[in-house]
Amino acid sequence: MSEAIGFIGLGNMGLPMASNLVKAGHKVQGYDVVPAAREAAAKAGITVMASAAEAVKGAGIVITMLPNGKLVLELYQTGILQAAHPGTLFMDSSTIDIESARQANALAIAAGMKQLDAPVSGGVGGAAAGTLTFMAGGEESDFARAKPVLELMGKKIVHCGGSGAGQAAKICNNMILGISMIAVGEAFVLAEKTGLSHQALYDVASTASGQCWSLTSYCPVPGPVPGSPANNGYKPGFAAALMLKDLLLSQEAAAATGAATALGKHATEIYKNFVESGQGGVDFSGIINTIRGY
Ligand code: NAD
Repeated sequence: MSEAIGFIGLGNMGLPMASNLVKAGHKVQGYDVVPAAREAAAKAGITVMASAAEAVKGAGIVITMLPNGKLVLELYQTGILQAAHPGTLFMDSSTIDIESARQANALAIAAGMKQLDAPVSGGVGGAAAGTLTFMAGGEESDFARAKPVLELMGKKIVHCGGSGAGQAAKICNNMILGISMIAVGEAFVLAEKTGLSHQALYDVASTASGQCWSLTSYCPVPGPVPGSPANNGYKPGFAAALMLKDLLLSQEAAAATGAATALGKHATEIYKNFVESGQGGVDFSGIINTIRGY
């Protein structure tokens, strides 16, 4: 049996990620505050522990997969760093703000631990298939130690720089995604108004300079990309509420650093209105239906 891994936060992403570690032969000591998540974890072969502190005991690596930075910091401050063996590698794969990521790193280092931020992209499907992209921030030697474990859950593992760099990469990438989905939606609506068919625009733009992931993987109109959420009633996929969360993180980072992100700001407002109109659970490509109504 390979080294034991602590896994805290067994939700939509955490459970399939931890399950892949079990399948690879690791003992996974899991914990989640929600009883239903613990029950599902036990069924997947995860050794469910009575608390987060119990989950880190005896583990060489501890992974957290939680909703936000406040919860990650709270968890780090409620005894798990003291319960772990000195030198344990803590990895936070949640998507959180850069400042909290750096604070979490500082707390772990002060307690004699190693620590990386290692957020992911690829969604629930990528988590289940073990094809996530990991973007890590922290010391090179800690990244080298983490990589073989991350490879059990992902297919692309990138060391982005020092602490917080993984979160910065994630936030910048998703700001591109939010903006580009709105751009693609606007182009299809403009095409409709000019009498150009969806398929004709797709056939041209998908192989021309307008090509992007929002067009070729998550095409916001039904038809051209059969697997896109638009063909499935805009069921996520990637829910608009999660896109808004990441865009808000981008604006927090922009405000903290003085970066000019005019389109990022506008995209955040557009998704905020969408979510506040009750559509947070809709795939983020559903924004095209709001654009049609402008
Ligand atoms: P989720 O809400 O399904 O899971 C989070 C889990 O953490 C829940 O089961 C919750 O009960 C648990 N939790 C909260 N506080 C806890 C605590 N103190 N101790 C133990 N467990 C606790 O969310 P998710 O979709 O799995 O996302 C997790 C993170 O991954 C988020 O930061 C999200 O932004 C990021 N992410 C999600 C996706 C996606 O497609 N869902 C994609 C990439 C990144």
